[in-house]
Amino acid sequence: MIDQYGRVIDYLRISLTQRCNLRCIYCMPEKNTEIQEEYLSFDEIVRIVSLMSQMGICHVRLTGGEPLLRKNLCDLVKSIKKIPGIETVHLTTNGILLKQMIDGLADAGLDGVNISLDTRDRENFARITRRDRLFLVEDSLKLLRKYPNMTVKINCVMMDQKDREFLEIAELARENPFFVRYIEMMPIGLGRQNRGRNEEEIKQLLQRMYGPYREVREKIGNGPCHYYEFQDFQGKIGFISAVTHKFCSSCNRVRLTSDGFLKTCLQYETGGDLRKILRSQAKDQEIFEYIKQIIFHKPKEHQFFNSKEMKEESHLMSQIGG
Ligand code: SAM
Ligand code: SF4
Repeated sequence: MIDQYGRVIDYLRISLTQRCNLRCIYCMPEKNTEIQEEYLSFDEIVRIVSLMSQMGICHVRLTGGEPLLRKNLCDLVKSIKKIPGIETVHLTTNGILLKQMIDGLADAGLDGVNISLDTRDRENFARITRRDRLFLVEDSLKLLRKYPNMTVKINCVMMDQKDREFLEIAELARENPFFVRYIEMMPIGLGRQNRGRNEEEIKQLLQRMYGPYREVREKIGNGPCHYYEFQDFQGKIGFISAVTHKFCSSCNRVRLTSDGFLKTCLQYETGGDLRKILRSQAKDQEIFEYIKQIIFHKPKEHQFFNSKEMKEESHLMSQIGG
């Protein structure tokens, strides 16, 4: 599927729930009592993915909120993997519940896992996530080494962590064939209140510790991350810098929220309500045409610090799926 600006859209991120078992300060308020979600059933999600696969969507990521809170997640992974045209299914999780689910997910054919981990310092983890559960994430990371067929990526949002903490995260890529990605804080939802470190600062820090790096030219993954190789590292270090290195001109993604809104840009509330049309007894062809025109009108780019034209996103990142 090609949008009005000629971009190929082949990647769908599906948020499975707005709920979460952590409360990261830049993502979700401590008291998240307003959630009254009427999320899409797995059958509805599979129907949407089947239609979108016929438009060229071939990569799917399951996210949230915390996707591992949805029951029978392995069944969903299995069903999506069976859809003709779908090449990969990945998961983004905080890793808290992964230990008890990883076997089932691997059997279901999951291609890879992204774990969000901003620090390996117990105290700071408890401060950032408002929960003292770092040990569960560390356990999951240890376990993931036993699944060589699964790509493992660590997402670390750059805030005011100490240099030592950024280096402790980098160690995961030195000691394992993992991809560690440092992510610039995006001014969305609660993230508007946090100004973090940027790519250049962290690259300099890593260079001081590990010596010179080499830029990886070949494309890795389906997203906008660019990677670097350091000597003696089993894995790679990457950066997702949506603010300082805008990548909208090559954006290949759309997002489906847990309540069925197909969202075409992270910053704006543009898109369409698929739950409504699905539940209106519409025929596949009608839904197909509806989705096609939504994707076609995907906005050209974000204007994080200068948006006047369109209605800006008012939801939290936990409601959008990151
Ligand atoms: N709960 C899962 C997790 O944490 O991986 C999946 C959902 S979470 C919303 C997805 C990703 O969005 C996480 O890696 C999180 O760090 C990131 N995120 C949330 N708010 C952000 C912001 N304002 N800027 C950049 N990344 C953000
Ligand atoms: Fe939950 Fe993920 Fe948001 Fe943290 S970033 S509160 S783990 S949804």
